[in-house]
Amino acid sequence: MKIKNFVIISHIDHGKSTLADRFLEITETVKKDKMKPQYLDSMDLEREKGITIKMTPVRMEYSFKGEKTILNLIDTPGHIDFNYEVSRSLAAVEGAILLVDATKGIQAQTITNLDLAKQEGLTIIPAVNKIDSPQARTEEVKKEIKELLGFTEEEISAISAKTGEGVVLLLEKVIDKVKSAPDNSDKPLRALIFDSQYDPFLGVVSNIRIIDGSLKTNEKIYFINSQAQGVVKELGIFKPERVPVQELSSGEIGYVATGIKDPEKIRIGDTIVLLGEEGLASPLPGYKNPEPKIFVSLYPKEQADFELLKTALLKLKLNDSALFFEQQSFHVFGRGFLCGFLGSLHAEITMERLRREFGLDLVVSSPQVLFKAKGNQGKEELIYSPTNWSDDFKNFSEPWAEVRIIIGSAYLGRVFDFINSLEGKHIDSYPFGENRYLLVYEMPLREIIGKFYESLLNITQGFASLTFKEIGYRPADLVKLEILINGKKEEAFSRILPRRKVNAEARRMVEKLKEVLPRQSFSVPLQGKVGGKIISRETLAATRKDVTAPLYGGDYTRKKKLLEKQKEGKKKLKEKGEVKIPPEVFLKVFGS
Ligand code: GDP
Ligand code: MG
Repeated sequence: MKIKNFVIISHIDHGKSTLADRFLEITETVKKDKMKPQYLDSMDLEREKGITIKMTPVRMEYSFKGEKTILNLIDTPGHIDFNYEVSRSLAAVEGAILLVDATKGIQAQTITNLDLAKQEGLTIIPAVNKIDSPQARTEEVKKEIKELLGFTEEEISAISAKTGEGVVLLLEKVIDKVKSAPDNSDKPLRALIFDSQYDPFLGVVSNIRIIDGSLKTNEKIYFINSQAQGVVKELGIFKPERVPVQELSSGEIGYVATGIKDPEKIRIGDTIVLLGEEGLASPLPGYKNPEPKIFVSLYPKEQADFELLKTALLKLKLNDSALFFEQQSFHVFGRGFLCGFLGSLHAEITMERLRREFGLDLVVSSPQVLFKAKGNQGKEELIYSPTNWSDDFKNFSEPWAEVRIIIGSAYLGRVFDFINSLEGKHIDSYPFGENRYLLVYEMPLREIIGKFYESLLNITQGFASLTFKEIGYRPADLVKLEILINGKKEEAFSRILPRRKVNAEARRMVEKLKEVLPRQSFSVPLQGKVGGKIISRETLAATRKDVTAPLYGGDYTRKKKLLEKQKEGKKKLKEKGEVKIPPEVFLKVFGS
């Protein structure tokens, strides 16, 4: 049987998972009465948020022109933070459907994902989706695809993933246009691990694409990069739930379980060969390790949960190789982790998963990019968090990104002003379609990881999309802001900031602390400090407990004595300086 492997790619919400639903129905892979919208989004979090986080493979069969074909589809996430998922799935297939929403037109991620698919040399089939919608601008959007992406009228399909209109034709186009997976079954086995997850019974289960040869149950296998060995305990395909088979051959997509429980032994991008044939095959290109872009300190609210947090992170890392973590400890929180993420949504989703899937309560610091500096003797130093800072550092630099933004031309002026205020450098603008613009900027990554997208949406009344890629390091003027509470430095509040922003931020932090810190029985000075100089100050007033109240109308000397005793006590407390900082305070200070 011929095998066609393909993905669906697009900007978020343009209808990938809904189109996958229609394919599952047409090919009768899922029975009509079992069908539910976005069937492949199986994680609770995905269903709730209505977004795809993990790529999901599924195998279907379809007869066309009297010939039966195996179709392996991989549904992918559309958000930029999960682009790494997209690029991994692209290496396992030969073709891609590129969806564009007829009501919204081309968006930033449409372009980025198309670029990735082109780099992999995939056959690309563009399709305008949601043509059933009253807001559909089908012809206009086709024009955009022709102008900006360079496809011809005949290449572009028009469909409704919701009603099914045009979907059978599109599936047949995939069978027609996408190259069949080459048949290399006579070669020695080589299989690419493109994803894996943890199963409590089977251990690590890896999703694989067989590139050459074939693999059977009970065979002994070898992982070229990790040099681990295993035995095939179970082998199978996705329908979309796992269904065991006896053999997988060249061109097929499926899963393998070896009983290996140690997540470290199985790496995404590794090549599986048969044990004893290590010398016969070279490793597949695999994947470039994704580099985390933002760093956050993560602490369990209850120190007793530290081990649980550690196990949880290890398990999540199994199918999220972009997740980075390293142990760290702070005076106020005890032990926790410095974690690295691909972006803010990636961080948010991971923390949500830690909460839900592992029942963890977390304290989280403010996110930071990876800064660099020259230390003593000109050695390059990496600054993941304010704890890595030294006053000896000089020649700071920070990551910059190329940002691509798509907006309606009505908002051009406002968007220009906004990005200029953030040190953005305008590189290019392209008008396309009816009154739309693609803008290209360069700007510091630290501006993008914050509220940039939110602000952009506000300015454009929701009509903006954004994608970015890192373009290397550029000089930066950075300082470390420290916060003193009752004269004592609380490192957990420290931040690294551009010099021109530090005064405003130092003021904001102490004002916020004054608002959210619980009052103590003595007054507490709150100070912001940079390079040995106090640059902001507030005072948290003491709670007033009237120790003399029981003596109402009573004798004056006794009253005075009590007040003095209280004053003395407060002074002692203050000297001891134990200000308890409840975890909520961190959320409030960094959450705004
Ligand atoms: P994804 O993020 O690309 O996977 O998009 P989804 O498949 O989750 O769809 C996003 C939203 O668009 C959902 O509310 C769908 O119901 C809706 N949608 C998808 N396809 C169509 C379509 O053809 N017509 C209309 N009117 N809505 C659609
Ligand atoms: Mg989806």
